Amino acid sequence: MKYALVTGSSRGIGAAVAKRLAAAGYAILLNYRSNEEAALKVMEEISSNGGTASLLPFDVADEEAVDSAICKWESENPDDYISVLVNNAGVRDDNLMIFMNSGQWHKVINTTLDGFFYASRRVLKGMLTHRYGRIINIASLSGLKGLPGQTNYSAAKGALISATKALAQEVAPRKVTVNAVAPGYIKSDMTKDLDEASLKKQVPLNRFGLPEEVAALVSFLASDEAAYITGETISINGGLYS
Ligand code: NAP
Repeated sequence: MKYALVTGSSRGIGAAVAKRLAAAGYAILLNYRSNEEAALKVMEEISSNGGTASLLPFDVADEEAVDSAICKWESENPDDYISVLVNNAGVRDDNLMIFMNSGQWHKVINTTLDGFFYASRRVLKGMLTHRYGRIINIASLSGLKGLPGQTNYSAAKGALISATKALAQEVAPRKVTVNAVAPGYIKSDMTKDLDEASLKKQVPLNRFGLPEEVAALVSFLASDEAAYITGETISINGGLYS
C-alpha cells in the first residue's frame, strides 16, 4: 500500500482530500485533534467506497504527540512509509491586531507552522530514504495578499509559503516535491460564520469554492504526473486574487 497522511481530515477540506486520495488508491491516515466522531464518519465513507483508512489522532502543534503517533505507526508498519503528507490542519481566530491577545496569535501560528514543521520533519525521513515523496501544504489567499483582521493567520500562511519554497529546494535531489495550495473562500466549518451572500460578490466566479475542488488540485500535486512541479503555490480562489 502507498500511505498518505492528511492532517485535519475529520472535516472540511482535509476530509475531502482524504476521500479523493483514497479513491486514487492511497491508504489514508486520518489525523484530527479532537473530533473523533467526524473522523470515524470519514473513515466509514472511505471503507464503504472500497478504500482503506485508519485514524491517527494528534495535535499537530504538540511535538511529542506528533513524534509518538508517527513513531508508533512506523513500528507497527515496518515495511511501509508515508509517501504523501498533506499539511492541512489549521485554525483561524480573527481580530484586529490592536485587540489581538497572545493566545490568539500563538494558537494560529503554532497550528500552521509548528504543525508543518513537526509532521514534515518526521515523515521526511521515510521519503528521503525511499527517494520519493509528496508534501502539500494548505496555505491561503490570506498568506499571499494579507487580510485585515487576520495578521496572525496571514503571518502563518505567508511563512508556510516561504517554508514550502525553501524545503522544496532542500529535498528535490531525492525526488521529494513540496508545494502549497492557496484557497480563497471555501465552504467549510471555518467559513460558516461568514456572510457568504455578500462576500461572494467579490469573487469573479460569484461563489465560494467546494472542498472537493481543492481536493482535486491536491490529488494532482500528489500524483506522479506532478513530478516536475515543486516549490510552487497554486491559488484556487475563483479569480479573487492573482
Ligand atoms: P475546518 O473545517 O475548520 O477543519 C479543520 C480541521 O483541522 C479539522 O479536521 C480539525 O480537527 C483539524 N485541526 C485543527 N487544529 C488541529 C490541530 N492542532 N491538530 C490536528 N488537527 C487540527 O477547516 P477547513 O476550512 O477545512 O480548512 C482546512 C485548511 O484549509 C486550514 O489549514 C485552513 O487554514 C485552510 N484554508 C481554508 C479556507 C476556507 O475557506 N475554508 C481558505 C483558505 C485556507 P477536529 O475536527 O478534531 O477539530
